Amino acid sequence: MQIDNNSVVAIHYTLTNPEGTVLDSSAGREPLHYMQGHGNLIAGMEEGLQGKMKGDKCSLKISPEKGYGVRDESLVQHVAREAFGNNDVQPGMKFNAGSQGSHYVITVVEVNETEVVIDGNHDLAGVTLHFDVEVMDVRMATDDEIAHGHVHGPGGHHH
Ligand code: ZN
Repeated sequence: MQIDNNSVVAIHYTLTNPEGTVLDSSAGREPLHYMQGHGNLIAGMEEGLQGKMKGDKCSLKISPEKGYGVRDESLVQHVAREAFGNNDVQPGMKFNAGSQGSHYVITVVEVNETEVVIDGNHDLAGVTLHFDVEVMDVRMATDDEIAHGHVHGPGGHHH
């Protein structure tokens, strides 16, 4: 069967950036399971996989708009060093932030005597993504899975 809305799909994937550096890969792990049409994956992945079948391999080039978004420079903020108290703050550290359903990660990009520069953009915001994908399995979602908007069983939620 072809991948369509409410298909439960298992894929192996390798993600590289435009420089060819591998950023993430399912190689050596269980395949990634997701449900098509529920925003489980970035938009460019779901669009690129629509209509594919078990055994298909494809290469997807995904623009930031269909990936993790364009960079928003207003999310780069300068915060007084003292706001972090005696905590050790180093460039590259990440903090979880957000409330009531909106969740995002803040990255520390610079630290000096008086202030800390933080960036709320996703690491991959503004990056054109290249995915090599192999479709390992396609099945119809169960009614429960459709109601929940996520995959149950192997590769999914257990509850
Ligand atoms: Zn569920």
